Amino acid sequence: MPAASWLAQPMHVLQPALAQGTLSPAAVVEELLARLASHNPALQAFLEVSTERLRAQAHALSQQPRQGKLYGVPIALKDNLCLQGELTTCASRILEGFRAPYDATVITRLKAEGALLVPRANMDEFAFGSSTENSAFGLTRNPWDASRVPGGSSGGSAAAVAADLCAGALGSDTGGSIRQPAAFCGVVGLKPTYGRVSRYGLVAFASSLDQIGPLTKDVRDAALLLSVIAGHDPRDSTSAPVAVPDYLTALERPVKGLRLGVPQLSEEGLDPQIKQAVEAAVRQFEQLGLQVERIALPHLPHAVEVYYIIATAEASSNLARYDGVQYGHRAAENRHPNALLDMYFSTRTSGFGPEARRRILLGTYVLSQGYYEAYYLKGMKVRTLIKQDFEQAFQRCDVVLMPTTPTPAFRVGEKLTDPLQMYLSDIYTISANLAGIPALSMPCGFSAESLPIGLQLLAAPFKEDVLLQAAYAYEQATEWHRRKPAISIK
Ligand code: GLN
Repeated sequence: MPAASWLAQPMHVLQPALAQGTLSPAAVVEELLARLASHNPALQAFLEVSTERLRAQAHALSQQPRQGKLYGVPIALKDNLCLQGELTTCASRILEGFRAPYDATVITRLKAEGALLVPRANMDEFAFGSSTENSAFGLTRNPWDASRVPGGSSGGSAAAVAADLCAGALGSDTGGSIRQPAAFCGVVGLKPTYGRVSRYGLVAFASSLDQIGPLTKDVRDAALLLSVIAGHDPRDSTSAPVAVPDYLTALERPVKGLRLGVPQLSEEGLDPQIKQAVEAAVRQFEQLGLQVERIALPHLPHAVEVYYIIATAEASSNLARYDGVQYGHRAAENRHPNALLDMYFSTRTSGFGPEARRRILLGTYVLSQGYYEAYYLKGMKVRTLIKQDFEQAFQRCDVVLMPTTPTPAFRVGEKLTDPLQMYLSDIYTISANLAGIPALSMPCGFSAESLPIGLQLLAAPFKEDVLLQAAYAYEQATEWHRRKPAISIK
């Protein structure tokens, strides 16, 4: 294999070469730096590239025994994951200059397996968005077509994996932020069950919906990365004390006889090319021996409304802490009698971008006295109904299949001035967060314009193994994951 193509390899190919010593962490870092220098200025998948830090990590790794499931493997980190001593800004001006005082649990686990950490992947400010255009520090572009968005909010992570600017990545998903960019960039993205992965050290957006998960070049890598980050953590009271199965051996289990649930969904706004690709995937699964069941998810049409009530309510409360006192940015002080209130006001006005402000206002409104029952409480009730829809579905099937997104990657600027249109691009992803169930997106075709199309698989809580098993069988039977954007290493 030519030395210059290592970054094009999935993690499960890269790691053995590093562990055996045929490839050194320093060689990986030099290739990475060369790729970042030539492609990151245009793509802006990363907010910054610290040459020194990467070289120092490679050196430190070369002094250690060549051990660990991710020894020397470069993993991109979304800018909302705390890495001790490093900047963590959530792509927001309000956190400009903030350095994380401790490591997120997922980072501690990556370090323990010898991963080479590559901060900071670009994102929508505080993970509010579906295009990465809401980053305060510049938008990320789609590696398949630079005139298009990479999706969001983990757009930097997805673009970095697709463009071979890293081997794998971590993102976070509150309403689709791992799966939607994975679909737009033609990579695999997995949102684990709520509680499967510790949220300790993930900057909170909506605490009852947020999960950290992998973005990878193939399904085996998703299983590998999940096996490193999954598991109970006493530091996150919502992390579940549930045993973690061996995800890599689950891949090999035969899928014949698994039941595949195909819901009847509203097709409003659904691109016919996506519909066709997803229908072809259903046939492929049938050929693999899965038994197709038509299922109903009657409350799904309300998912977007419910999400934008609950997610904004939780966000407005989580973002109250950014007032210029403890974290990051503080607006210039004045000596006015109302100096403290003024400082809060001007810090928040200058620190938050337009989408963050919109969410704080919406969330404050739905939680306010007199509206709480009408919006938040009602939203919570419908959330329960959506959860029950899935509980019933999973009595009849093992895996549910639907599109990840209604359209392929849209153009930069296309939806920026129309928040409702932007919100609707999450129509198929949001319900998994509301129900707390695991969901995965993987490539299942291409549009006429050669843009990737994503297929979404969902499973019952803590059944990531079944999800990965089905996804792997599909991947083995198809070639979609082998197609790469022109910008990637050939
Ligand atoms: N696009 C959705 C939103 O804007 C989901 C974001 C996410 O999952 N973080 O809220």
